[in-house]
Amino acid sequence: MPDRLSDRFDYAANLAQAGRYRQHRAAFWPPTTTYDLIPVELARHAPDLGPEFPAALAQLRAAIEAEWDHAKNQGIAQRRRFAVPNAVATAMRRLAGHLPTETDRRAALLRAEAVEHGYEDRILKELAGLEEEVTLVAGQISTWYGKDLRGLPTAFACRRDEDRQADVARALEFLPEVAPYLSRLHADLTLGDLPAFGASELFFMAGEGDLHPKHVAYFLPEDEGVKYSPFKKTYYFTNTHAALVRGASGPLADEFLALDVAFEPEAERFASIPTLGVLSHEFGHFVQRPATSFKDLNAEDRWASVVLQEVAADVFGILILAEVWAGRLGLASADVIAYYLAECLRYVSRGLGHFPDSDGMYLQLSYLVQVGALEPAGARLAGETSVVVAGLRSLARVLADFLLAGNAGPAAKLYRDHGPANAEVLAPLVAELRARPARSVEYGQPHTTSATSAGESRQ
Ligand SMILES: [Zn+2]
Repeated sequence: MPDRLSDRFDYAANLAQAGRYRQHRAAFWPPTTTYDLIPVELARHAPDLGPEFPAALAQLRAAIEAEWDHAKNQGIAQRRRFAVPNAVATAMRRLAGHLPTETDRRAALLRAEAVEHGYEDRILKELAGLEEEVTLVAGQISTWYGKDLRGLPTAFACRRDEDRQADVARALEFLPEVAPYLSRLHADLTLGDLPAFGASELFFMAGEGDLHPKHVAYFLPEDEGVKYSPFKKTYYFTNTHAALVRGASGPLADEFLALDVAFEPEAERFASIPTLGVLSHEFGHFVQRPATSFKDLNAEDRWASVVLQEVAADVFGILILAEVWAGRLGLASADVIAYYLAECLRYVSRGLGHFPDSDGMYLQLSYLVQVGALEPAGARLAGETSVVVAGLRSLARVLADFLLAGNAGPAAKLYRDHGPANAEVLAPLVAELRARPARSVEYGQPHTTSATSAGESRQ
């Protein structure tokens, strides 16, 4: 086990431990961190599906927590499969019976079948064609890359967020404008086949996914260990992300950013931006060149490869949002950039050498400072929208030339020069962040436990 007194910003020491937390059982990770908790009541997002429904959720929670214990104590015998699949599948079938629509019930029964017998293409293909209102998922689902590379028992339930899903639909109307924009950035950039995206409100979380910190989205079936499936969908939790943006990114922006506009996450003009930010990040993962392959970089430095892929998704994504969608959707690019920089601060505040996406956000801030697009004054970063956007375009071209061209050497050098190994550039900011605990959301779920449930023991 790593030293409990270690520093969440000690990049080299943390990186040396990455992926080696298989024995870790505490609710909090990284293990040295004290968290400030942001409460999120999931009950207010739960559909009213009758008096039996909470008891059925409690049954699923108990089955998942037994699986989690088993995985920690005995390991996972068969990848992607539970030790006692029948217990989880039975709880899912019981829940399925209470779901509001035929589509919801069908999707939940297909997922119960996958739990019991494993995924087949037939199941994935039918699931891809179903647009559920309420979604129920259970599996050995990916946790944090720096914590454990295996999936661990997790179950969640969420309900479509109609307002935010409408924002997604409006942005997708302007999808045809994205490819011409990318080719103006760099001649042979294209956008690959995009996965489906569901904006939803989370109302149940159990197992590994209920520990800290929380994920704001799961990418299925890849996060369930099924790679290269043509049927992909992101389940994004608007309520979890909104709590993090308001409770963590907002206060950090107030303290450490001086931009031409203030980041005001409660203001109506920011209502759709976090959802579109996550959507555009997902799309950013599919920006590619004919030569794009991460094989050489994976072989040279797997961590750097994962970090740079997140950086590319962030940079291309936020440029698509700020430069293609914002104007057409009635949003100000200055607000998009304020959101983006506030989120950079939140990710960096989780620590370095633990999370590839946090190291990636550090790289972006460090790059923007080094090219003069952000001006440091002590721990504060000052900038103007148009200059930050120009800095992001510059980084996008560098990523296209190195990372997306499959040039492992220069890509690894980009990571060394601008990533957390170069500690000097953002040292005053990191010193301030170190003095503050990281923040994480805590789910209140009294509606998903019954008095006799094993879930009580983990409250
Ligand atoms: Zn990503």
